[in-house]
Amino acid sequence: QKYVYAFSEGRADMKSLLGGKGANLAEMTNIGLPVPPGFTITTEACKEFYIAGRKFPEGLEQELETKVDWLEQTLNKKFGDPNGPLLVSVRSGAVISMPGMMDTVLNLGLNDQTVIGLATSSGNARWAYDCYRRFIQMFGNVVLDIEHHKFEGILEEQKHKRNVQFDNQLTSEDWQEVIGKYKAIVQKETGREFPQDPKEQLHKAIFAVFNSWENDRAIVYRKIHKISDDLGTAVNVQAMVFGNMGDDCGTGVAFTRNPSTGEKLLYGEFLTNAQGEDVVAGIRTPQPIAKLADEMPDVYQQFARTCTLLENHYKDMQDIEFTIERNKLWMLQTRNGKRTAQAAIRIAVEMVEEGIIDKEMAINRVDPNQLDQLLHRRIDPNAKLEVVAKGLPASPGSASGAVVFNADLAEKLNKQGQKVILVGTETTPDDIHGMVAAQGILTSRGGMTSHAAVVARGMGKPCVCGCEAIRIDSENKQFFVGNITVKNGDIVSIDGSTGDVILGEVPMIEPDLSAEFLKLLQWADNIRTLEVRANADTPEDAAKAREFGAQGIGLTRTEHMFMALDRLPIVQEMILANDIEERAAALAKLLPMQEGDFYGILKAMEGLPVCIRLLDPPLHEFLPNAEELAVEITQLKLTNGEPAKIQQKEDLLRKVRSLSEFNPMLGHRGCRLGITWPEVYAMQARAIFQATARLVKEDCKIDPEVEIPLVIELKELAYLRKLVEDVAEEVKKETGVDFHYSVGTMIEIPRAALLADEIASQAEFFSFGTNDLTQTTLGFSRDDAEGKFMQPYIEKKILNDNPFIVLDRKGVGKLMQWTVENARRVKPDLLIGICGEHGGEPSSVEFCHMIGLNYVSCSPYRVPIARLAAAQAAV
Ligand code: ADP
Ligand code: MG
Ligand code: MG
Repeated sequence: QKYVYAFSEGRADMKSLLGGKGANLAEMTNIGLPVPPGFTITTEACKEFYIAGRKFPEGLEQELETKVDWLEQTLNKKFGDPNGPLLVSVRSGAVISMPGMMDTVLNLGLNDQTVIGLATSSGNARWAYDCYRRFIQMFGNVVLDIEHHKFEGILEEQKHKRNVQFDNQLTSEDWQEVIGKYKAIVQKETGREFPQDPKEQLHKAIFAVFNSWENDRAIVYRKIHKISDDLGTAVNVQAMVFGNMGDDCGTGVAFTRNPSTGEKLLYGEFLTNAQGEDVVAGIRTPQPIAKLADEMPDVYQQFARTCTLLENHYKDMQDIEFTIERNKLWMLQTRNGKRTAQAAIRIAVEMVEEGIIDKEMAINRVDPNQLDQLLHRRIDPNAKLEVVAKGLPASPGSASGAVVFNADLAEKLNKQGQKVILVGTETTPDDIHGMVAAQGILTSRGGMTSHAAVVARGMGKPCVCGCEAIRIDSENKQFFVGNITVKNGDIVSIDGSTGDVILGEVPMIEPDLSAEFLKLLQWADNIRTLEVRANADTPEDAAKAREFGAQGIGLTRTEHMFMALDRLPIVQEMILANDIEERAAALAKLLPMQEGDFYGILKAMEGLPVCIRLLDPPLHEFLPNAEELAVEITQLKLTNGEPAKIQQKEDLLRKVRSLSEFNPMLGHRGCRLGITWPEVYAMQARAIFQATARLVKEDCKIDPEVEIPLVIELKELAYLRKLVEDVAEEVKKETGVDFHYSVGTMIEIPRAALLADEIASQAEFFSFGTNDLTQTTLGFSRDDAEGKFMQPYIEKKILNDNPFIVLDRKGVGKLMQWTVENARRVKPDLLIGICGEHGGEPSSVEFCHMIGLNYVSCSPYRVPIARLAAAQAAV
């Protein structure tokens, strides 16, 4: 077993063994880019480390020894040699990048002797001591577990004493003083002197990086991003290069294209005379990368060329770390850059146009889940806004919410259903849970590559950072801007596309799709075979769905129409009717209203199929609540209310109680209503057909699909189908108009799925109602599951995902597959779709494609997501 690979021995496709960072360092080395030499300890070694109970696996020590010898020879330097000390960085490198989650130590190899050697041989004592104090600080924090602020405090003190603002203004003597104090802290906290032996330092640092795989923030990050806990991290040991030797040095990070908008322009930040994390940590405000062209034109040219080369090599936008040591460029990291949805689309489309990738690859490049960001409402650009401050537009989108200054509180309020904006000077990896809970993030410090910005973009959350106009007083939970004080709980809005910070709520407008987005969707449409419909209950929703590219309506629910305020009393009349005549009278009043509803929707979807589901929910949903009624009656009695009125309420209460069910979800609902009260379904069918006849007369092409819900048995469907057909014949005769329609059923109870072949004989279409099918297959009532036991099921990994969000392929999926196969055996061209919420969830869409459905149907706003997901399933 080989545990250690020199960079020259690796390749980009060895990510799972070498980690992302190690594999790409190897790749860059092998394409001849200037990468400081080094080697990678494999993720296998890390896994073995944990299996052995946090011990180095056998053989690792020897291999390390050999590789360190090799590195010493290559560089002609030696660990611990004051005349030419080898200094290295020890860098974590997970398989899937987890920015900022794990640990890195720089300048390892320094000690009291080598620092003197370094100072004398370089003639740059300030630099040598700066490196040493950084090393003690990082090693102290990462390896010895000493809190960061203990070191920061000393640094701040020293700056204060010297009356300077920035680290780089401190002198060699200052650093020596700081080092003395740092070492004292180490002594005090660990009871030991700071380790002086470089090999011991290396050993401990590697140990710490392995350990950091299991630190809390890494665990949380993996949970949020659904990264497996078993992957382990690699460790990279790499010769140091120095960006902090003077003004002809620097360090920076850059994206080959703008990660926020996708614009093709080198985008990033650098700092002269700085090392490592200085840029991202917001120590000094960095300069935009374009400035490098003025300050070091040759280096900039070389860097720009390297960026293009890397982009073409990886065929994707790169996120790059580099350091300049005395005018020489060194590449320290490259990876595919994280980006917003907007940027992902633009980059994918433009890379096709530039000939770098093909259309299929472009389609696969955009994560459909991410598109959600673009399909949301945003701040109305014409609104008059009270913009109180402007920061950096770090992650697009807008959000409103109550100000909170603390991640725990953000999480707590969010759980209670409050929308919050997390505000802070900056964020750290310990704030992740608060960022997840917040609608948006606002920081007063830090640049476009600060922690807040990077993480927010990754999560697709609006973020405004580096908003220096606001002054945060976290002690008293408030911030000041100009002469305004904003307190904990006050509502603010942020616009992450402009950097605006606004007091109060703001008016929002509907999203519009960019030209690139439309182009990408067009390509997707040409590739996919699965059709995409929308679920819509109103003409407005239907129009929106059409605009987003829906090819029909997969589900129109009629119950919402019954809920409207002016209808509810009539619906109640119908339900409470004592006999058929009374019910008929109520239905007669509802008929023209329903006809109007269907007319509107059918017209909005002219030329496309519209699937209308007959009444489905249990009747009690339309009735007043029994407890409230009882209270009302008591009140009436206590206040000597009219006896007739009391009588009426008591009758009502009796009726409500008699209709109450132990388990409404499994009760008197769906086609069971149609069986017991055929006149209700007959009225609905009549409304559909009368609307159809009118529209056909108006020369519209109309294609209604009448859908019977909750069927379990062929005879149910046969009975109701006959009823619908009889009404259709009547309407045809009465109006003299001939029209086309079809009758089908939902498949949402396991029995219906199992008897698919029989039921298919009476149906022209099937539509999987996967919300109910999931409930009835798992025996989980959705509301109870999500409120009470879903979370533990997922945390304990009993279920991988919430089956109400991601289709349960193993169970529900098996029933669906059975249904499709058996139904199509009887009726090869049976139309089959899905109208549960899964119809807009990318992995479920993929499954629907795999089992050969004709269409998925989802909410109008998810139609573009489904179009892309369906194309991804097809390529
Ligand atoms: P992260 O994954 O958190 O970015 P890195 O391992 O990339 O951690 O390192 C942190 C910082 O230190 C980065 O800015 C990186 O460029 C810098 N760095 C790492 N190794 C070296 C090295 N050998 N020489 C100079 N700078 C380095
Ligand atoms: Mg890095
Ligand atoms: Mg249902």
